[in-house]
Amino acid sequence: MHAIQVTETGGPEVLRYTEVPAPTPNDDEVLVDVIMAGVNYIDTYYREGIYNAAAPFIPGFEGTGRVVHDPKGKVAEGTMVAWNQAFGSYAEQVCVPREGLVAVPDDFQPEVAASMLLQGITAHYLAHGVYQLGEGASCLITAGAGGVGQILTQMASSLGATVYTVVSTDEKEELSYAAGADKVFRYGDGLAEQVRRYNGDRGVDVVYDGVGKATFHESLEAVRPRGTVALFGAASGPVEPIDPQLLNKHGSIFLTRPSIGAWTAQEGEFQMRAQAVVQAVIDGDLSFNVTASYPLEDAAAAHRDLQERKTTGSIVLRVQAGDKA
Ligand code: NDP
Repeated sequence: MHAIQVTETGGPEVLRYTEVPAPTPNDDEVLVDVIMAGVNYIDTYYREGIYNAAAPFIPGFEGTGRVVHDPKGKVAEGTMVAWNQAFGSYAEQVCVPREGLVAVPDDFQPEVAASMLLQGITAHYLAHGVYQLGEGASCLITAGAGGVGQILTQMASSLGATVYTVVSTDEKEELSYAAGADKVFRYGDGLAEQVRRYNGDRGVDVVYDGVGKATFHESLEAVRPRGTVALFGAASGPVEPIDPQLLNKHGSIFLTRPSIGAWTAQEGEFQMRAQAVVQAVIDGDLSFNVTASYPLEDAAAAHRDLQERKTTGSIVLRVQAGDKA
């Protein structure tokens, strides 16, 4: 089969389109024909070696496609599914843990099915788990026009929270307002001060910071005493170590570095969050803005665009024509 393979970690150019043997599922997995694969920032951390995987490896965790074979015969051949926990998804076939499969209605757009779970579940655990948003709550979201950013903004807004976001360009500002932001800011010194001014001269209840190094200290400044800073990513690079006294200085604030793994680890939790996302899409309460699709062989271009801040919303790789693609 064709796949993107990484033989040594590095820049986007290490994502090579090549031929490799098709994988074989174990008893806990099903084999799937991939129609589209989701592209997420975490894929760049593996490609660069910030997160470790033994080379050679096929990157990607997420996608949509049709079941080819279930060794236990529990999932019918041809079933349309989506997933976000199958390492090796930048390929024509991948083995997906059976427990991590979500059935996809036949009239679903494949672009949406391929990109809704990783970002949607992340937004769900941030808005419902890390800090339960509701009427009267306020939050600041970094990269408001990005994949997670647009979904989290929609969720936070529909829960009744006041949503502040930060973005880098006019185009992204428009997109962030369209997703439901109450006020959109730009990066830089003084961000926290501006947010406080808009929030009645007080810090926000929670900051959702997926940008990391470039925004972290503004995030600490922007939160209210005893509020929460959720550092959930590092698009601008990892945050330097800090002295815990800093949390005291900002008013006994809570700092957490959450992961989707930990927030879907409890019995039934993955399916609960995944179904909430799928249902919200079906009901029209959540809309995924898939702004670019690249052929599988152009995975390097997708990573380049993502890391050069050229993308907005979600992006996907087209793997097979498929009957729904
Ligand atoms: P995005 O679509 O949000 O892309 C990243 C965005 O980050 C860019 O578009 C850009 O928006 C912003 N950014 C700010 N500074 C930089 C920089 N120096 N270099 C590149 N980008 C920068 O990606 P995703 O939605 O896939 O992921 C968003 C974040 O969420 C990532 O950090 C990712 O690791 C994290 N994540 C964490 C999960 C978890 O469970 N912990 C799960 C899923 C994602 P702008 O130009 O507006 O600043």
